[in-house]
Amino acid sequence: MTDEERRALLETVATEVRTCTRCRLHAGRTLAVPGEGSAATEVVFVGEGPGANEDQQGRPFVGAAGGLLTELLGAIGWRRDDVFITNVVKCRPPGNRDPEPDEIAACAPYLHRQLEALDPALVITLGRFSLQTFMPGARISSAHGTVRPVDPASGAADARALALYHPAAAFRQAGLRETLFEDMSRVPDALIESRAGRATRRTTSGPTAEPAIEPAAAEPAIEPAAAEPAIEPATAESAAASDPALEPPITARPVTVGGPDADADDANQLRFF
Ligand code: URA
Ligand code: SF4
Repeated sequence: MTDEERRALLETVATEVRTCTRCRLHAGRTLAVPGEGSAATEVVFVGEGPGANEDQQGRPFVGAAGGLLTELLGAIGWRRDDVFITNVVKCRPPGNRDPEPDEIAACAPYLHRQLEALDPALVITLGRFSLQTFMPGARISSAHGTVRPVDPASGAADARALALYHPAAAFRQAGLRETLFEDMSRVPDALIESRAGRATRRTTSGPTAEPAIEPAAAEPAIEPAAAEPAIEPATAESAAASDPALEPPITARPVTVGGPDADADDANQLRFF
């Protein structure tokens, strides 16, 4: 799937979410909050549900918990735009109560389709309700900071989940702030390991190569003789391609963010290592 196809699927989900009436939460919402971020990312953060600020703006994690999430991302050198951020339920539970099981079930197909479109390598769960979705039966007090494979039934075909406390928990219990930063520091290794697992599974079980069908007619019948130099001058890119030490990180797909007209700029890539 191309990034453009992923983007289109995500936009279709978002459009449906904005007018959804599948559960009672639609009645109390100002705006539904489908989620946002890069369609090309390898990493998805899944929170619980919109709070008051999110409900007003229609965007995830834009209140105090969102400020802390942005700080946590910054601690590993990422920005919000580098990842995709969404929630288990897309509409605000009244008074910020917990989402009910039937509301979570009603909303689950949207998260499923988002994960299908993104095919992330790493899902980061924020809080108990997200944890239950990806690690059923796990308890946050022992699961936080740990990684396990995600059930493909979630929509994420080949991903690992890393469990974090909900950022808002750090406002009620100050010690959890340090725990959050500590658990967040495991993200780079978790991503690298998940990438490696995906690459292995692809080369051992999947098609080993793209079919090398050259569209013969598309090529010019006659080489423009003088116009181009016979030998391309070595570029940084071709040097990298021939020197394994200079190769870019293992990645299922190059990660670029910032919208269709953003440059494929190194500053916009998940920089691991
Ligand atoms: N808490 C969440 O779980 N999600 C949000 O989007 C904001 C706060
Ligand atoms: Fe629909 Fe989900 Fe909102 Fe319920 S919470 S109305 S299922 S989008």
